[in-house]
Amino acid sequence: MSLQNVLTKVLAWFDNSNVKVSDNATDSIDWMRVIPFILMHLVCLMVLVVGWSPVALWVALASYLLRMFAITAFYHRYFSHKAFKTSRIAQFLFALLGATATQRGPIWWASHHRRHHIHSDKDKDIHSPRHGFLWSHMGWFLCLKNFTTQEHCVRDLMKFPELVLLDRFDSLVPIIYAFLLLFLGQYLEQAYPEFHTNGSQMLIWGYFVSSIALIHCTLFVNSLAHVLGSQRYETGDDSRNNWFIALLTLGEGWHNNHHHYPASARQGFFWWEIDISYYLLRLMSVFGIIWDLKPLPSNRLYSNLIQKAAQP
Ligand SMILES: [Zn+2]
Ligand SMILES: [Zn+2]
Repeated sequence: MSLQNVLTKVLAWFDNSNVKVSDNATDSIDWMRVIPFILMHLVCLMVLVVGWSPVALWVALASYLLRMFAITAFYHRYFSHKAFKTSRIAQFLFALLGATATQRGPIWWASHHRRHHIHSDKDKDIHSPRHGFLWSHMGWFLCLKNFTTQEHCVRDLMKFPELVLLDRFDSLVPIIYAFLLLFLGQYLEQAYPEFHTNGSQMLIWGYFVSSIALIHCTLFVNSLAHVLGSQRYETGDDSRNNWFIALLTLGEGWHNNHHHYPASARQGFFWWEIDISYYLLRLMSVFGIIWDLKPLPSNRLYSNLIQKAAQP
């Protein structure tokens, strides 16, 4: 690889407009592009060096939950499925928060997710476990051919220049977020020495450990939630309802429900199917931040049931 090629690849870490995909791009992993992703995992080992403190663990948990909500409620239910409405400013702010999760920009995310629903577990599904479990979990987004956005799937989102810009420079958002956590730790060390924390602890726990957990738990919806769990609805794919993944992802584990009726803002269809993102969306609607949450039509609750599926 020439020096110029290496420089172009490194630039592409920060500016996605540098990524060019030839039509015959293969499924092989683009190792140069995924170096930052691998490094993020390795940096987590720094917990052995920086140690821990209760406040660092609490911040890591809060950082996980806040960003998981932005991913599930906004990247997924709003940008991908239009399950509710909001203002343009709230749309951008939650897109920005979602981008701190280091799962690319909202347009890229929604474009691949919409394709998943169109071809779910068929040949053209880009992350079906039928093509290999590891592929469905990570392989699909580590290859060059899926680094670019499927623009024909997201024309509605590409009308917003601020979202297009966010998608182009998506990696700058988590970098800024990581620095903010570093500064928070440095401030706490000075102002509240009794917390026994510092900048590096806050960076490693609050950003790296929290982000890696967040990324893999989100990816479980593509991989595990098409393999492990129960099926209530005949959806023509392998989607499952899995309560454990639902808890980890604030409601996304009710994936068979979701494939049955993707437009619903609610994914836990029954009261015992805990769907924290939906409860928070309901709360946000009380304050007028979002509105027009799409319900599950009552006639769809018991339609397409798999024979002998447990009746509530
Ligand atoms: Zn799915
Ligand atoms: Zn979906």
